[in-house]
Amino acid sequence: MTYDFVVCGAGPAGLTFAALACLNGFKTAIIEKQTEEAIADPQYDGRDIALTHKSKEILSELGIWEKFNPATISTIDKAIVNNGENQGKMALSSSHAPNLAYVVSNHLIRQHAYDLARSLADISLFFDNEIIDVERTNNKVKVALKSGESIEASLLIAADSRFSTLRKRLGVSASMLDFGKTMVVCRMKHEFGHNNVANECFGNGYTLALLPLVGPVSSAVITMKPWQIDELLAKSDADFNAWVKGKLGNRFGKMEVIGEKFAYPLVGVYANRFFAPRFAAIGDAAVGMHPVTAHGFNFGLLSIKTLMDSILLAKKHGIDMGSANVLAQYDRKHRNDTLPLYLMTAGIVGLYTNETIQARIARRALIEIADKMAPIKALMMNKLVDDGNSHFSNKLPSLPKLPFLRSHNFTN
Ligand SMILES: Cc1cc2nc3c(=O)[nH]c(=O)nc-3n(C[C@H](O)[C@H](O)[C@H](O)COP(=O)(O)OP(=O)(O)OC[C@H]3O[C@@H](n4cnc5c(N)ncnc54)[C@H](O)[C@@H]3O)c2cc1C
Repeated sequence: MTYDFVVCGAGPAGLTFAALACLNGFKTAIIEKQTEEAIADPQYDGRDIALTHKSKEILSELGIWEKFNPATISTIDKAIVNNGENQGKMALSSSHAPNLAYVVSNHLIRQHAYDLARSLADISLFFDNEIIDVERTNNKVKVALKSGESIEASLLIAADSRFSTLRKRLGVSASMLDFGKTMVVCRMKHEFGHNNVANECFGNGYTLALLPLVGPVSSAVITMKPWQIDELLAKSDADFNAWVKGKLGNRFGKMEVIGEKFAYPLVGVYANRFFAPRFAAIGDAAVGMHPVTAHGFNFGLLSIKTLMDSILLAKKHGIDMGSANVLAQYDRKHRNDTLPLYLMTAGIVGLYTNETIQARIARRALIEIADKMAPIKALMMNKLVDDGNSHFSNKLPSLPKLPFLRSHNFTN
């Protein structure tokens, strides 16, 4: 079987890449280790995903955005970053966009991405399967599957999560940052309305964020040391509600958890290269963000768009789309788009989960200074309201013409 692309992983990144490829006339095979039943009917996993304007634009281009029932989409009109319980805060809002971001449930993103991929004739899905061997030559890649089948393509793409086994198998190293923290997410109903304001509270040894959902309901996101999270999860719902209400200084009145609580250990991953011969990494397999700045899937969508832009430019110039120069161009652009925020997030998380007295003084000062400094707020805003014209996007010139690119070889 011969395809243009073979993608490992039918998560949101793998499925949306295949759909974008199909829209541009390419054929893709997706290899997924889970069963089709699990991917076709994804269950609520506690993640309510904040999406930028740019992400909404990409999802609209794919026809996915229109599949969301409008009654399930919420907006973030303003964000307030609080230091502790009432010790200084910074407010972010946009003067050139109606809102900062949209919020939709992760399981609905997965559902609509699967439904779309399943409906496209040029996408073949191989479930309950795995890549067991990879053979690369100058002009193609051949993969052997656990099922005994073998597939040839121009490019092999890893979209198999931040702990990508494919990326590892091909010898592409990644920097991993174990934050030593666990995140709990759940939905909570509250007495007072949220007015579509997202609240991020950085306390001593914990962070608590509330993302506004539809109605008087928010997605609560709590980060603490794993043993503290264990203690929190062992509480009765009534005690859990009281704990959250206390940390919010009664701002939302009575709080009530709805449904299950989900725990995620926090590990940030940044691939040291997003490509190797006949190989590219996208989604979390390229950049696995700490969720506190809500950018993981936004960067995932950006990766599929950036990679496809490089591929289409290569096609236009009659260049092999799996060649090193084309992939190096994707690597450079995506790194420029993501590395500043990845590093900034790691720094913020370090500062805000540190309980020393120096860190407490530093973060109080930082929030107060940041609130008064237009350039810092503008930088954070640009990333939140990313409509493709953000600070980081603008910093790079438009894609250089491929034939003039410095030739790239794989010496390291
Ligand atoms: C608590 C939390 C909150 C978040 N909030 C936000 C937010 O507000 N905004 C935002 O933009 N992002 C957010 N994110 C990040 C977002 O959820 C991820 O970036 C996104 O789900 C990653 O998609 P992916 O397709 O790259 O990887 P995944 O969703 O991890 O999918 C990988 C797929 O690959 C498959 N797979 C794995 N290994 C193999 C293998 N060896 N062979 C075949 N298949 C394999 C898996 O089964 C899976 O289907 C959040 C994350 C968390 C944990």
